[in-house]
This record gives sequence, C-alpha cells and structure tokens, in this order.
Amino acid sequence: MNITLEERKRVALIAHDNKKAEIVEWAKYNKATLRKHQLFATGTTGRLIEEELDVHVTKLLSGPLGGDQQIGALIAEQKIDILIFFWDPMSAQPHDPDIKALIRLGVVWNIPIACDRSTADFLLTSPLFHQKYDIKLPDYSSYIKRKDF
Ligand code: PGA
Repeated sequence: MNITLEERKRVALIAHDNKKAEIVEWAKYNKATLRKHQLFATGTTGRLIEEELDVHVTKLLSGPLGGDQQIGALIAEQKIDILIFFWDPMSAQPHDPDIKALIRLGVVWNIPIACDRSTADFLLTSPLFHQKYDIKLPDYSSYIKRKDF
C-alpha cells in the first residue's frame, strides 16, 4: 500500500522545554520554507512558533497533557506527513511513554522524522519536501486479517 504525500506537507513540530529555543531558532531561519506548508504542533511549541514567525499553527494539547498522543493519532489517520521532534536526550520527561509511542507510530507509518536539527535541515532541503512523494508502507494486511490467536 502506498500513501501519496502532496507538495504541501502537513508538518508536526514538537520540542521539549530544553529544546524550545533551538526549534524556534530553526523555524525562524526556515520561515520562508515552513510557511508554504501546513503546520501542527503541541501546545507550547506551537504558541512559541506562531508568536515568533507570525504563521498559523494548528495547536494541539501540550505534550504532557496528551499533545504527543494527539499527533500520534493524526499520523495513524494519515493526517501528518512529516514529524520534526526535538526531544531532550538529557532529561526524563513525565510523558516518556507517550514520546516512545509517538516515535513508534511515525515508524509504523514510515513518515520522515527528524529528532535533531541536522536531520531537520536535511529534510527541509530535500527536493522531496516540496514534491509529491509516495510513501511505501509495509504490508500490514496479513496482520490485519490474522486469525492465529
Ligand atoms: P509542549 O509539548 O510543546 O506543549 O511543551 C512538548 C512536549 O513536551 O511533548
């Protein structure tokens, strides 16, 4: 099964508190590119990016209150194309299980994921960021139809 990503991507942005300054700086630097796409974010990250960039961001709940899970659900519903997630590798988070679940769903649905600034730069400067792109999904049909339980 393939999923086609359109030219205008639906990009989810999330940063833990120690990474918020970094994502805002990165987003400001890439404002001209980002504003051509549809932006989603967890609550606080979204508010900061909206304020700093003066672009519309669809804001979900704050991460620890369920925002990461909301983004995960949007990925599973094929409503998010790209995940930019600057998680903090140096601090435990109250919602660590949600973070693991979010990254897992990103991989299940084979969407591009950047967890650090360098990868985010590579993603944003890829020609594919602005083109239609067919995501090839693993074949989950035998799993869905399984009867061996
Ligand atoms: P926040 O959530 O943008 O609301 O701070 C991010 C997170 O911690 O997952």
